[in-house]
Amino acid sequence: MTGAGGQIAYSLLYSIGHGSVFGKDQPIILVLLNITPMMGVLDSVLMEPQGCALPLLKDVIATDKEEVAFKDLHVAILLGSMLRREANVKIFKSQGAVIVVGNPANTNCLTASRSAPSIPKQNFSCLTPLDHNQAKAQIALKLGVTANDVKNVIIWGNHSSTQYPDVNHVKVKLQGKEVGVYEALKDDNWLKGEFVTTVQQRGAAVIKARKLSSAMSAAKTICDHVRDIWFGTPEGEFVSMGVISDGNSRGVPDDVLYSFPVVIKNKTWKFVQEDGSYCKDTDRRKETAFEFLSSA
Ligand code: NAD
Repeated sequence: MTGAGGQIAYSLLYSIGHGSVFGKDQPIILVLLNITPMMGVLDSVLMEPQGCALPLLKDVIATDKEEVAFKDLHVAILLGSMLRREANVKIFKSQGAVIVVGNPANTNCLTASRSAPSIPKQNFSCLTPLDHNQAKAQIALKLGVTANDVKNVIIWGNHSSTQYPDVNHVKVKLQGKEVGVYEALKDDNWLKGEFVTTVQQRGAAVIKARKLSSAMSAAKTICDHVRDIWFGTPEGEFVSMGVISDGNSRGVPDDVLYSFPVVIKNKTWKFVQEDGSYCKDTDRRKETAFEFLSSA
């Protein structure tokens, strides 16, 4: 974990050490990286997980050396800003999953992938599930259900206000029955208007209110994201992840780090197949892809 010692890491360490990500039977060795001037803060943060006597924590290695941090990893979570570019190629030796959170997350993720060509492109993803969770929560609030009763939101595009939350495939559990969100809400104006802008602007709204970017929701979403990679997505459900587009991602140019709906099985993700029903917003998707390209 890079950026360990920052505010997201503070919430994340507990959940990882407690089994919310890799399960209750998986012992964990945490490797925490920060820059040299922050090592004092990192040492103080370390006292907390130790004080919790977290049941799965076998060891914690705190370091300011990338060559120590990036060795034999199963999962790398990049919270801190970009690593020194010239160091990346040499140090990224592991073949594990690389999850990029530090903003601009899409750009950082693409840069990390290009800096470490020995790791398959498919191993890189960036955190757009936060937007996915925000969208689920907005719909749940409006209907008076919980976020777990809402599934199959799609976030297309960039982790920024140019993203597009697509609800065309959303199913909501109401009184034990699954129904489409338009039927459940009967408020198309809200779904096509206020809902979209609220999700798009949520990150900025949190920063305005807290004077800091989101930390608790980011940490919870990182847990969801890594757990989905580790254990797979539930049958019949997909999640949104920022990944590198390829020949299968119709409507979006290749080699763009873009948020798509994916299903995950055996630690491998696949684009949700476009059988016609998943691809109604093609024009909008192209637009956001190009917005992202021109801002990158
Ligand atoms: P923070 O400022 O509290 O912590 C960042 C930490 O990274 C600091 O301790 C800093 O010393 C460390 N760091 C900086 N450069 C580093 C380097 N080269 N190597 C290792 N560590 C380094 O920030 P935070 O609130 O924990 O957020 C982390 C990042 O996540 C920010 O960029 C934030 O914008 C982003 N974020 C993304 C999402 C998302 O959904 N993708 C959501 C929330 C926040």
